[in-house]
Amino acid sequence: MIINFGWLKETRPIRPIFGSYCYHCQKSTTWHLWRETEWVMFFGIKTIPFLWKNFLVCPGCEYVFHLPWTRYLEIDSEGTRRAIGDAIEKEQLRPKNELQRRFLLTQRAEREARGKRAPDDQLMHKGEQ
Ligand SMILES: [Zn+2]
Repeated sequence: MIINFGWLKETRPIRPIFGSYCYHCQKSTTWHLWRETEWVMFFGIKTIPFLWKNFLVCPGCEYVFHLPWTRYLEIDSEGTRRAIGDAIEKEQLRPKNELQRRFLLTQRAEREARGKRAPDDQLMHKGEQ
């Protein structure tokens, strides 16, 4: 008897999770949850989902952050999201040297300040017209 036994890796997007900042493409981003499933195949049919892994992906630059299960299970809690945001920041800044790190943090602060100021600027311009 020949048993056709195989393995298939499948990755698919699940849903957007939360907004934060990506130091890789230096933009505000919404991290999207992706899941990788490994299937055991019998005769070309997906039979047993064998292993899941969760990832957060920046849609802008496709930076991938591996999301541990413990965090995934509490993903809807505000505190967990903040912790994940911090973990992504740490991972993205770790390979940088002190100068690059400071530069990237300043860039983010400036961008966010500009974002917050924008509505006031528009009002001011309206007043001038
Ligand atoms: Zn990015």
